[in-house]
Amino acid sequence: MALKDSDSINSPAQTHQNSTESENLTTAAIEDAWGRVQQRMKKNLGDTVWKSWIRNLKFLEKTENRVVLGAETKLVRTRVSSQFADRLRANFKLEWPDVDHVDIVLSRGAASLPESPKRASDQPARVEISAPLDGYDEFGGRLDPRMTFENFIVGKSNQLAYAAAMRTAESESPVFNPFFIHGGVGLGKTHLMHAIAWEIKKRFSRRRVVYLSAEVFMHRFIKALRHKNTMQFKEEFRSVDVLMVDDVQFIGGKDSTQEEFFHTFNALIDQNKQIIISADKSPTDLSGMEERLRSRLNWGMVADIHPTTFELRMGIIQAKAELEGLDLPDKVIEFLAHKITSNVRELEGAINRLAAYGMLINAPITIDTVHEVLADVLRASNRQVSVGEIQREVARHYNIRLDEMHSKRRSRNIVQPRQVAMYLSKTLTTSSYPEIGHQFGGRDHTTVMHAVGKVEKMLAEDPVLAEDMAMLKSLLNAG
Ligand code: ADP
Ligand code: MG
Repeated sequence: MALKDSDSINSPAQTHQNSTESENLTTAAIEDAWGRVQQRMKKNLGDTVWKSWIRNLKFLEKTENRVVLGAETKLVRTRVSSQFADRLRANFKLEWPDVDHVDIVLSRGAASLPESPKRASDQPARVEISAPLDGYDEFGGRLDPRMTFENFIVGKSNQLAYAAAMRTAESESPVFNPFFIHGGVGLGKTHLMHAIAWEIKKRFSRRRVVYLSAEVFMHRFIKALRHKNTMQFKEEFRSVDVLMVDDVQFIGGKDSTQEEFFHTFNALIDQNKQIIISADKSPTDLSGMEERLRSRLNWGMVADIHPTTFELRMGIIQAKAELEGLDLPDKVIEFLAHKITSNVRELEGAINRLAAYGMLINAPITIDTVHEVLADVLRASNRQVSVGEIQREVARHYNIRLDEMHSKRRSRNIVQPRQVAMYLSKTLTTSSYPEIGHQFGGRDHTTVMHAVGKVEKMLAEDPVLAEDMAMLKSLLNAG
């Protein structure tokens, strides 16, 4: 049985009938032990890391060989389990030698909004965050306390989006409306949106800010439809001052949701309320979006985040390593910045793994260590597939000649493989539609867009094609 928080641990003897050991533990003894574990963790990890991940954990219970701790968010739970559980266990073992497991569970007991770091304010949190949907667990639609402007590293590839985001956050009334941020996966779109929300919360505490993903928007809308309270849904959304909708590509093709989104959008713009949108593509390239919605999305400021540059990756690695209390020699930082080029999320993952390793093995991180710890990541990053390779592999797979990829012939047995190759070129390389068109015998970018859309649609309906695709992808990534 899990208790809500450490204050309410009363008589362990009553709560743990199966436990022999804990029957002898008093609340005070538990609190003392937990306090010492916390102190040691703080010393081990350094102030910053400790505050971010460990300080707010709650001691829930101890049974024979197991300690259960509560984390307030899924994010913290996952991170602590993957990264700090071993260290916690070692520290608990010093208190209670029988402890073999430390479990981290989700306990939303004192669910208050996380405060932005560096701004511990004693005012109540005023940013309105959408409540998680029934059975729907995003990370709660909450703002991530680490996603602030202070923690955002600026470089060439994201400076426009950053500057526009700052401007949006600092202005009392909308400067760009809507403000549309787009870019590939893991490049900082969500980070910038959360940063704007934190900043508005700091500057204009009376403005109502709602941040949610397009998926949540859709789920809520569908739920409102089902319960026939769309009026309330409309009012709820239309009374906000700043509406942020993340990943709008998710509502592509969902017609009634788009319709509602469009109306909400217009109503808010009419009232001069700020709208901030993110997507993985520019408004013009968003597939499955109605034309009028796409053109509305193009009205204000459209800022894209480009793939990272080497300098930016260096900066990010330095900052993240520092945050994790990880000491990385310059050579290693450089090596990582050369090798892990896909996106910031992957870079973070790599640093986390190195930090976890560094914590277990008390030795400095070298290039050899990196090779050992990140073998899989490095292998994947060594392989950048080219459009040419894709064409060759697809032609071989479908048994057509390579030059049919460039030819104008339109017989069915050639058109489909060609479209599949275009689709793979778009999804596996960083080439743009026009670039891909160029490499397929100088075709127009709209032809490529059409092909990609068509294959996407067919994939959903045709299991044989889906299987072919999986096979092709693995062939292309394998060698
Ligand atoms: P997206 O929403 O574009 O897929 P996220 O905003 O979730 O990407 O970013 C992925 C991860 O990388 C997050 O943990 C985020 O904090 C981090 N990140 C992205 N860009 C930067 C940056 N410029 N500086 C620091 N961290 C960044
Ligand atoms: Mg995101």
